[in-house]
Amino acid sequence: MEELSRLKIELERTKAELSILHEISNAMRTTLKLDEILYIILTGVTAHTGLGFNRAMLFLVNEKEKIIEGIMGIGPESGEEANAAWTRIEQEKMGLDDLINAFKNSNAALESGFNRQVKNLKIPMFDKNENPLSLAVLEGMPLHLIGETIQRYQNSPVIKMLESDELVLMPLKAKNRVNGIIVADNFITNDPITKDDLRMLTMLANQAGLAIENSQLYEKTVYHAHSDYLTNLWNHGYFQFLLQNELEKAKATKNKLSLIIADIDDFKIYNDTLGHQAGDKILKDLAQLLRNQSRKIDLVCRYGGEEFVIILPQTDKKEAFMIAERIRKDIQKYPFLNEEIFPNKMLTVSLGIATFPEDGMLPAELITSSDNYLYKAKNKGKNNTCCG
Ligand code: GH3
Ligand code: MG
Ligand code: MG
Repeated sequence: MEELSRLKIELERTKAELSILHEISNAMRTTLKLDEILYIILTGVTAHTGLGFNRAMLFLVNEKEKIIEGIMGIGPESGEEANAAWTRIEQEKMGLDDLINAFKNSNAALESGFNRQVKNLKIPMFDKNENPLSLAVLEGMPLHLIGETIQRYQNSPVIKMLESDELVLMPLKAKNRVNGIIVADNFITNDPITKDDLRMLTMLANQAGLAIENSQLYEKTVYHAHSDYLTNLWNHGYFQFLLQNELEKAKATKNKLSLIIADIDDFKIYNDTLGHQAGDKILKDLAQLLRNQSRKIDLVCRYGGEEFVIILPQTDKKEAFMIAERIRKDIQKYPFLNEEIFPNKMLTVSLGIATFPEDGMLPAELITSSDNYLYKAKNKGKNNTCCG
C-alpha cells in the first residue's frame, strides 16, 4: 500500500512537470522574436507555476567575438521586492501565459536593476579557470555550484554580482553547439537546488537552445530581406515601411520629422571612366560614412542607384539642415579612391531636406518635396543643401 501511494505521488509530480514543460515549449512556439523567446525561457525558469527559481539570467555565446554576453535577467533585487512581485502574481492569479502576454505588450519586466547588471556582463569564452560560465560553455555540461566550489570562482564577475551560496549553470545547445547558458539560483528563499530542479532545467534547456537558434536564424533572414546587398543599409522597400512608421509616430507624439535625400554629383562620369566595380566601392564607402556620421536615432537607407535617404525622427528643419551640411562637408573632405576623376577633383553630394508637417503629411509628399529641393541644390551648382 505504501509503495502504491509513493508511486501515485511520483506520477502526480511527473504529470505536473510535463505540463509545465509543455506549457513553456508551446509558448516558445508562439514567437520567433529573440527577446520574446528569451523572456519565455526565463519566465519558465522563475515563475512559481514554472520551475520556481528565485532569479535567472540568460547569456548568449558570441562566437565571433569569443565572449559570453549577458542578455537578460529576471528576478528581484531584494527580499521586499521579491515579496511584492510574488504577492501580486499570486493575487492576480498570473500564470505563465499571462506573464508572457504582458511582456509582448510592454517590456516593463526588463526595467529592473538586475536586468541592467546582467546586460553589462561580458565574459571571455576561454577563461575556464576563472569563470564557471566559460567552463560550462566549453565542456557543454551543467554545473551545480555550492559552498567551496563557488569560492573557487570568487573573482568571476558573475559570481561577484550574484553573491549567492548555491547556483546552477545550464548550457543551451543546438546541434551539439552551445549557444547560450542559463544561470539560476534561490538567493531569497535559500531553497536548495534539488535533483528534480536540475532534471527539469535540463529538459527546458534542450528546447530553449533550439528555440534560440531558430529565432536567431529568423532574425538574420529578416535583416537580410530589409538590407541592401551592396551597402548593407536599409533597402528601398524597408525605407518605405520605416518612413510610414516613423511618420505615424511623429503624428501621434506631435513631433517633427525630417527627411534628407542625398545624390552623388556627376557619378556617371566616375562610373564611365573607371567602371562599375570602382563605382560600387565608392557607394560602399559612402554608405559607411553616412552610417558613421548619423545619430543613433536616424535611419540611413539606400533609396536606389547613387541616392541615399536619411529619416531623422524628432528633428525640425533647422536641425536637419545643420546635420545635412555637416554630412556634406564630411563627404567633401573624405579621401575617396581616385576622386580626381570628378569634374571638381573630389566626390561631392547634393542634398534636399523635407520636414513634416510643413512640407507634407504623407510619405509620398515628403519624398517628392525632398526630391524637389535636391533638384534645386543641383541647379545651384551641386555640392549644396537645399531645404526651402
Ligand atoms: P548628377 O550630378 O546630376 O546627379 O549626375 P549623375 O551623373 O550622378 O547622375 P545620373 O543620374 O546621370 O547618373 C547616375 C549614375 O549612377 C548612373 C550610373 O552610372 C551610376 N549608378 C547608379 N547605380 C549604381 C550602382 O549600383 N553601382 C554603380 N557602380 N553605379 C551606379
Ligand atoms: Mg541620381
Ligand atoms: Mg547623381
